[in-house]
Amino acid sequence: MEDYPRTLSEFDDLFGTEDACWKYLVRARWPNGFVCPRCQGTKAWHRNRGLMVCASCGYEVSVTAGTVFDRTHKPLTVWFRAIWWVTSQKTGASALGLQRILGLGSYYTSWTWLHKLRRAMVRPGRDRISGTVEVDECYVGAKKSGKRGRGAAGKVLVVIVAEVVEGKKIGRIRLKQVLDASSESLEDAIKQTVEPGSVVWTDEWNGYNGLNRLGYIHEVVREQSAVGNSLLPHCHRVASLLKRWMMGTHQGAISHEHLDYYLDEYTFRFNRRTSRHRGKLFYRLVQQAVAIEATPYKNMVKHVRGRKSKQHI
Ligand SMILES: [Zn+2]
Repeated sequence: MEDYPRTLSEFDDLFGTEDACWKYLVRARWPNGFVCPRCQGTKAWHRNRGLMVCASCGYEVSVTAGTVFDRTHKPLTVWFRAIWWVTSQKTGASALGLQRILGLGSYYTSWTWLHKLRRAMVRPGRDRISGTVEVDECYVGAKKSGKRGRGAAGKVLVVIVAEVVEGKKIGRIRLKQVLDASSESLEDAIKQTVEPGSVVWTDEWNGYNGLNRLGYIHEVVREQSAVGNSLLPHCHRVASLLKRWMMGTHQGAISHEHLDYYLDEYTFRFNRRTSRHRGKLFYRLVQQAVAIEATPYKNMVKHVRGRKSKQHI
């Protein structure tokens, strides 16, 4: 498919009606054509509001069932505007900004939408990075950096994995929140993000000592006489960009409970930073939004007091 708007006016032309949005979702969900989950039939009718009816067995499939848009009471045109806005903001989206731009009555709705969309930014079963990577950790949400291996109040440790391209450029990244800098935590983060057989560069921290045993080619970057250079410049750069982004877009106001989602949003943006068209980000996010399972609000927030649970969003 790969048809996406290049500009705001193209966006307005393409997605002015509910019908146009539904058809786009159907194409995004089944880019290679519809396949019936019951009989594998490939012919279907699009009845209305994304409801596909299998031509062979009559089975009905809703394009939004089990996705970000599941049971939404808001028009898809509003959702599409939200996705366009989120992906066209270079610096990232805040719930307040989204509420303003869409004219949403409640901050709660805007906040929930953003978190649903961030969930969609992580592609299900996305591939691990391979080749040569740098791995390091950094603290976020803290004024001072803490000591490794010790928990520190108000600080969250994030593992940064940065693909090294042609020896000096940063390729893709992965970010993972970890409990501490123990080998158990670090190894777990690396196993989830890096393909075995890859060359992993780290500093001399003993938390990385077991990587060879896990099938990685571990190389320790040692301090050299050259002064002032970071040992792991790619990770260093990603860490400083991440911190700047968090301060700039969210004024540092990110609760640790939701940090994973913000890390996902940052990763999504960073890995597509060279995309020539913002519209391509829009297409990817729509595609991933109909590919993932819905996250009911109650699963997103662990401790909510005084909220109405029956609210539809
Ligand atoms: Zn069928």
